[in-house]
Amino acid sequence: MKLSKMLISTLREVPAEAEIWSHKLMLRAGMIRKTGSGLYTYMPFGIKVIRKIEDIVRCEMEDIDAQEFLASNLLPSETLSESNKCDVLGVEMFRLKDRSGNEFCLAAKHEEAFTDIAINEIKSYKQLPLNLYQVQNNYRDEKSPKFGVMRSREFIMGEACSFDASSEGLDISYNKMQDAYNNVFRRCALECKAVEADSVAIGGTNSVEFMVKSEVGEDEVIFCSSCSYAANMENAPSNPEPTQKEEFKELKKTLTPNVKTIDDLAVFFNTTNKKFAKTLIYKADDKVVAVMVRGDRQLNESKVINAIGGAMKFELADIETVMKSTSAEVGFAGPIGIVSDVLLVDEEVANMYNFMVGANDTGYHYENVNYGKDFKGQVGDYRKAAEGDKCSKCGLQLTIGRSIEVAHIFKLGTKYSKTMGATFMGQDGKNQPLVLGWYGIGINRIMAAVIEKHHDENGIIWPMAVAPYQIVVVPVSIKDEEQMRIAEKIYNDLKQLGIEVLMDDRNERVGVKFKDLDLIGIPMRITVGKKISEGNIEFKLRCAGENEIVEICSVIERVKEEFISNNIKL
Ligand code: ATP
Ligand code: MG
Repeated sequence: MKLSKMLISTLREVPAEAEIWSHKLMLRAGMIRKTGSGLYTYMPFGIKVIRKIEDIVRCEMEDIDAQEFLASNLLPSETLSESNKCDVLGVEMFRLKDRSGNEFCLAAKHEEAFTDIAINEIKSYKQLPLNLYQVQNNYRDEKSPKFGVMRSREFIMGEACSFDASSEGLDISYNKMQDAYNNVFRRCALECKAVEADSVAIGGTNSVEFMVKSEVGEDEVIFCSSCSYAANMENAPSNPEPTQKEEFKELKKTLTPNVKTIDDLAVFFNTTNKKFAKTLIYKADDKVVAVMVRGDRQLNESKVINAIGGAMKFELADIETVMKSTSAEVGFAGPIGIVSDVLLVDEEVANMYNFMVGANDTGYHYENVNYGKDFKGQVGDYRKAAEGDKCSKCGLQLTIGRSIEVAHIFKLGTKYSKTMGATFMGQDGKNQPLVLGWYGIGINRIMAAVIEKHHDENGIIWPMAVAPYQIVVVPVSIKDEEQMRIAEKIYNDLKQLGIEVLMDDRNERVGVKFKDLDLIGIPMRITVGKKISEGNIEFKLRCAGENEIVEICSVIERVKEEFISNNIKL
């Protein structure tokens, strides 16, 4: 296309509302415009990128024989499953009414559509395995829409559901989807780590998040740099630090007036935080839960909630409850004599020798405490994994980093199909529940993540596969007939090859054109200027600093080389 006929909406100023590179550059390059909180219009260059990412997803889905369908976004409220209405997405769901007062929701996810197909269309084992997908808008009333399209209230998700007859079948479908998603990320030039999520941390292999390492990511991931291990900090298991065996010493109650925090205690006893175990008291619905972790550790609330079998409400206990449980002021809680419904003891605490705890008596602590001898509880992993923990796979030290979650896959198994009555007739003629897998990939978030990873201070550097256009031809002076003739010829030759090419025929100074094109991030640029008198043009990759001088007659070959090296078919 000719840029003189296109809408170019680049901005020189950095918009004040944008905090992160991708948001700033998408606004400055004219990819998006804000229409409301968490709502965006995709401008012509922006929607080109979105469509490219969608097409990559479609291509990878078709490659594993997943079939596309398209569900409605307007859902009659009464058709929503209890799970959709009640789970956490309930509060994120947009609700509306039609003219007759009937209630509807805007789809926050489309599990009902997939479920309907499962219930109504799948009858027999002969139809299995089956994998359906769609690429569709989702609406979520996010608590804090953030970072432009990274967390917006309307976004496009590639959703898929696999239907299998057995858990072995699900394993195959799940692995295929995982490979397909990995291919999507490779093609989008995103280095992505498959991270064990949620249920995995408590023993299963049911859920994986695809994470792109980035400072601006909202998720914290603990990972091993030397092997493939990675887990979401929300639930990451932690390897206990080994302890040195000691002889039990005699329990001793020591006066510690006004010494309440672990740091103060370490100074008071002239030792380290590791010699203490802290006892935290929580209210889980109507139960009082006391949890012990080592003094230098932090408690992981998700692990505790899992350990007590879930809780609707989980929060640190109020002062009154603490005083009732400990018969002391806040700051002196300990395991000996505590009154609680359950006492959870982190395994590291259970492994310690002669440590110190609060005495459940204002102004006192116990020294030389030992698990088993002085108190007992439910031992488990209740601590937050921490930087420096040892990798459970290879034993080397783990590191924590922020990441952007770009996709999430789950093995649902028969949990939902059983309750929904999504069954099929097996080979034995008996009805059995379908074995399901669920998959979601964020198209807009991928776009933002790509920019986070591929930009410089001048603008976006699109990887070839997702660039709005792959190449631009820039005549230095549109008034120079020879320059225009050669530029047009190159432009037409590239177009003939099926390459997405732009011609910057705007009546602007070449410096202005370069600034715009760098900001928009077109991967290749051919400049047709004075050097044509020597039979040459300039070729420049957006990702490289230097111009290359290329003979006019070999420029097409030079462009083709880039397609080959980027593994993109012409
Ligand atoms: P998050 O923890 O970031 O809220 P989620 O667990 O709610 O994500 P899923 O329901 O698993 O997300 O959706 C699958 C994918 O959809 C996510 O991995 C992400 O790429 C994308 N996604 C989810 N919410 C948003 C949003 N508000 N804006 C843009 N993309 C989103
Ligand atoms: Mg969410």
